[in-house]
Amino acid sequence: MSSLSELNKEIAVCQQCDLSKCRNKAVPGEGPENAEIMFIGEAPGWHEDQQGRPFVGPAGQFLEHLLATINLKRQQVYITNVVKSRPPGNRDPLPAEISACRHWLDRQIEIIRPKVIVTLGRYSMAMFFPGKSISRIHGTAQKHDNIICFAMYHPAAALHQQSLRRTIEEDMLKIPSLLTQDEAIAETEEEPKQLNMFEV
Ligand code: URA
Repeated sequence: MSSLSELNKEIAVCQQCDLSKCRNKAVPGEGPENAEIMFIGEAPGWHEDQQGRPFVGPAGQFLEHLLATINLKRQQVYITNVVKSRPPGNRDPLPAEISACRHWLDRQIEIIRPKVIVTLGRYSMAMFFPGKSISRIHGTAQKHDNIICFAMYHPAAALHQQSLRRTIEEDMLKIPSLLTQDEAIAETEEEPKQLNMFEV
């Protein structure tokens, strides 16, 4: 079994925070271990909690549409979340839950070592672009330890706010060029917040 499948089995039974008490299924993430691109959302919603798979509800359908615009299928990228269990009532994840779950994401990144990490929404953005506002930095990239981190609005934002749909679609179209313009993207001078994932 691959290291990623082993890790995801551990995540499936994790009880390190109270979200484990009210979830139906943990949602570790899915995609190939050699994925070049990793998408990181916020937390599983109702559909994801039922199936144990990330982005399978309406936001996931929009994500699949976005991937298709750059000729990718979801099976070609790694998709996961900051928090691996559904917060009750789809509330925002609490700081304690985010920090209890963080080491799983760190290990997923260590194993996959993607070329590009795409943060979807504020919670994953905060890990890689500390102190930044999504309205200012969406559609921009910065490197952390040689991994290109690219910030996008969460796909669900387009479902609630139609005016963001175009913005999200335009940002998605920038992703293929990130893979080819690697050299041109600056390494961040800021320490990533709450991030120990690159201390390998
Ligand atoms: N929203 C997320 O952030 N993650 C999912 O898996 C589904 C919806």
